[in-house]
Amino acid sequence: MLEMRDIRKAYATPQGPLPVLDGVDLSLAAGASLALMGESGSGKSTLLHLAAGLDTADSGEITLDGQRLSTASEPARAALRRTRLGLVFQQFHLVPSLSVADNLTLQARLAGRETPDWSQELLTRLGLAEMADRYPEQLSGGQQQRLAIGRALAGRPALLLADEPTGNLDEASAETVLTLLLELVRDSGCALLMVTHSARVASRLERRLTLSHGRLLAEEAR
Ligand code: ADP
Ligand code: MG
Repeated sequence: MLEMRDIRKAYATPQGPLPVLDGVDLSLAAGASLALMGESGSGKSTLLHLAAGLDTADSGEITLDGQRLSTASEPARAALRRTRLGLVFQQFHLVPSLSVADNLTLQARLAGRETPDWSQELLTRLGLAEMADRYPEQLSGGQQQRLAIGRALAGRPALLLADEPTGNLDEASAETVLTLLLELVRDSGCALLMVTHSARVASRLERRLTLSHGRLLAEEAR
């Protein structure tokens, strides 16, 4: 599903180049789940952005669902993101002017999918069926993130990329949201790459890798 080979990435800063990824290899099979751990600033978000084609590596190859990102045009990468990827971030990134139901189906519609039945079922599973006509600001943080997860999955992506999806939530809602995310991912059969700095959260995924000094440390399988 996702292959990264010898990925290097440095950011240009006023103090000179800041190397972040220094030869990262990663592969994730279809339907598999992987937790990406590491200290703050270790490059987890950078790696996720590269996997999503939101930024480009300095060198190395990334293949997403059979397509090489480095040689794909920006429109082709955008199309791949729309149709094959779901993205969830720490910030919920909902559209404030759209209702809950419209936020949920927005990405699916952009992906060219008709989803009336599935979206109703999804709203129910998210615990948001009664709130379909409300607006994001009328929801709690946990509800907003459930909606963001539902939106990411509504288009039936092959891979969900999640960057600390429970990082903005209190412990109780983080637990609920994480459990729901893992259930929905499992039932949809999509692969999951999730950034977390919580070992406890990571332990609920099949595989764990840790970024340190620009490299991925050997993994511990479940
Ligand atoms: P993490 O998600 O593990 O906390 P990031 O990938 O966000 O780490 O950042 C890795 C390093 O790169 C940090 O030192 C961060 O300050 C730096 N960094 C991230 N994005 C940029 C950018 N756009 N320009 C310059 N430096 C950046
Ligand atoms: Mg980050």
